[in-house]
Amino acid sequence: MSTLGQQRTKSSLSRLHSGGRVPHALLFIGQTGWGTLSLALDFARLLLCETPDSDADGNAVACGKCNACGKTGHFTHPDLHFSYPTVGPNAVSTNFIKEWRAALAENPYLDANTWLQRLGAENKQGNITKDECNAVIKKLSLKVFEGRYKILLMWLPEYLGKEGNRLLKLIEEPPEQTIFLLVAENADLILPTILSRCQLVKTDPLSDDDITEGLQNKRSLDMNRARQIAFLSGGDFNQALQLADNPENDDAALLLDWLRKCWRGNGVELVKWTDNFAKLGRENQKQFLHFGLHFLRELLAMVVTKNPDARLRPEELQTAQNMANVLNFEKINRMARILNDNIYYIERNANPKILFLDTSIQINRILKEG
Ligand SMILES: [Zn+2]
Repeated sequence: MSTLGQQRTKSSLSRLHSGGRVPHALLFIGQTGWGTLSLALDFARLLLCETPDSDADGNAVACGKCNACGKTGHFTHPDLHFSYPTVGPNAVSTNFIKEWRAALAENPYLDANTWLQRLGAENKQGNITKDECNAVIKKLSLKVFEGRYKILLMWLPEYLGKEGNRLLKLIEEPPEQTIFLLVAENADLILPTILSRCQLVKTDPLSDDDITEGLQNKRSLDMNRARQIAFLSGGDFNQALQLADNPENDDAALLLDWLRKCWRGNGVELVKWTDNFAKLGRENQKQFLHFGLHFLRELLAMVVTKNPDARLRPEELQTAQNMANVLNFEKINRMARILNDNIYYIERNANPKILFLDTSIQINRILKEG
């Protein structure tokens, strides 16, 4: 499947390719769930393709048929090198190349947390290590094997930290025919000296239509279900896939029930709710929190625009309208921050009973504040 949406970015990449002056360092910026990694992979395939083609929109694309495309399609082309976060103090990316290829084949929209879990990271931090930087320098000093370029695709240079300094010179004065494709989520976490040497490739959250189409293709969901998930996923296809794969919970019902209990503020009731909620497991808890954030975003839009319609189903809409009467912008934002922080804590194995009881009490206070 080619990358969803991102028409603007696709056509500017196509122009770079057709103009024949590909910058030697590109930084794709945005959530992986918007398709940054997928776009960078497509671009690497295009650069190495022997007989480029064009798509329905007239953008240059890899042919998908030549010898090079066969290899890039399996992530095994000898001129396409990958670098990504791993676990362990001396780890290098090639140690995990099998897992990496499998992960890309399965879902190039994956997030860092899913990737690190896949490596069995549990609560260990991911890193792009000093040894990996040295390995990159070595790989890029080799001659081009087959293609016109040798390419280093680095996913999440944020994980370089200060080790990034080791790559500065290489990015500034790269060996001939060398292209860096960096794929980052947060430019603030990248050394400014690296940032300034890259041409930025900006991406946007996906539209609901793009996500709906992607879900219909990848998960053969019917239109209604795909649309509903698209609404919840905030432009992030990875999020959409996770929601599609965990259909057993009706998060909306759970959320409305929880908000009603937070509103009443009965301690016994809330303890019982959190005991049950704790049994759902981390992925479902995260999914619930993402749904809660979607609900609050819609509520916020409703309060700000004074427009009573939102992308919510009738029962949710009724609750949102009731809440819009007692909440202002600042309070809704505070609630959203709490839910957002909880996603972070859940990913780091916080005790869900303590976390959600505390959260329920905080939400109760915000709802009841004068
Ligand atoms: Zn080709």
